[in-house]
Amino acid sequence: VKPVSAAEVITAPPAIDGTHLWGSLEAAAEIGPWRAPGVQRLALSDADRQMRDAFCGWCENAGLALRVDRVGNIFARRPGAVDETADPVMVGSHLDTQVAGGRYDGVLGVLAGLEVVRWLDKHELSTCRPVEVVSWSNEEGARFRPSMLGSAVFAGALDQEVALGQTDEDGLRFADELDRIGYAGSAEVPGRPPHAYFELHIEQSDSLDRNGLDLGIVTSAYAARGMTVRLRGRTAHAGATPMRRREDPLVGAAELISALDVIGRSGGEETRATATRLQAWPNRTGITAGEAVLTLDYRHATPDGLTRMTGELERALDEICARRGLSFAREEEWEFGQDISFNPALAAAARRHAARLDVATTDMPSSAGHDAYWLATIAPTLILFVPCVDGITHNEHEAIDPERVLPGVNVLAASVLEAAGQ
Ligand SMILES: [Zn+2]
Repeated sequence: VKPVSAAEVITAPPAIDGTHLWGSLEAAAEIGPWRAPGVQRLALSDADRQMRDAFCGWCENAGLALRVDRVGNIFARRPGAVDETADPVMVGSHLDTQVAGGRYDGVLGVLAGLEVVRWLDKHELSTCRPVEVVSWSNEEGARFRPSMLGSAVFAGALDQEVALGQTDEDGLRFADELDRIGYAGSAEVPGRPPHAYFELHIEQSDSLDRNGLDLGIVTSAYAARGMTVRLRGRTAHAGATPMRRREDPLVGAAELISALDVIGRSGGEETRATATRLQAWPNRTGITAGEAVLTLDYRHATPDGLTRMTGELERALDEICARRGLSFAREEEWEFGQDISFNPALAAAARRHAARLDVATTDMPSSAGHDAYWLATIAPTLILFVPCVDGITHNEHEAIDPERVLPGVNVLAASVLEAAGQ
């Protein structure tokens, strides 16, 4: 038994038991059902609206004041006890999902934030600073590019007009769809940096689950880069044109996908590389492709490693195109996670709370992008990872063991309380 200091007696109310949180998660999983037990809530779709409406209703029931900004980020505020103008402590994540979405990616972090507020209320804990539960718009980028759009605009990394002008596959504009679902708010962006930002998220890999650990304290981010590559050749008759006369960009794209996979496997756990999308034109029978547009991304645990991967990809692209008589253009390049640092003091506090609550933790990097990346550029930020079963994610079978997630939720609650000042 560890000795308990007087300060800890004051700051250690009974732990969250999770009943309310699991109920909210079950209710959320009923919204946008798709390929049971999965969900599909693409950003600004009807399902996204229903999920936002449910979340806002739960926040209002908890007595929180709602605010929506110009790109649809939602903030639910619990006032501070000392100075209502003090910068808030924010806690949240996202409510949208991938096309093949699971029940926990994103929504767990938002509802865990709401649960922290319910817990503060239940134990009549007032905080010096306001606490805001936040849901960021369009985190996944599955419908509108780029991913992490709402948090990027909030942090001033993406212009609001650019964000509002993004279009989906059907040519529908972000601004129009946001208006259609009733979440075109009036709060200014970029937003005022919070005092601190916390995001709890499923790990989306299997290291916590495999090692029997209940909490990952994220101390670094993989550097990520992505682009679309347009390969151009020339259309030709599929039967009449001899192989020696082909300039087929679809075959070039196939080789590039293979080369990218080799690059992705070259660094073991430190590297990832993925071709996510291939569009060919004219995409008909009897004729070779004239154009192929490949969307890809790659990531490395270090910025130097990412630079090396870029070199390998460029060499592969040059070599394949030269050999096959193709031209290419790199379009829509993006990157995130470069030089991101998470706040060491917040991490230290989380470790201290974990030790007090007897939660086994490890420091770890994040290889997936999160809204916290953008928040980290403007405010002290911490990501907490909780295990998901077998690391399955962006898949309808994404699952959690509530008993193994609850410890992380309690570390989150204690960390938010400390940052907001009891
Ligand atoms: Zn997510």
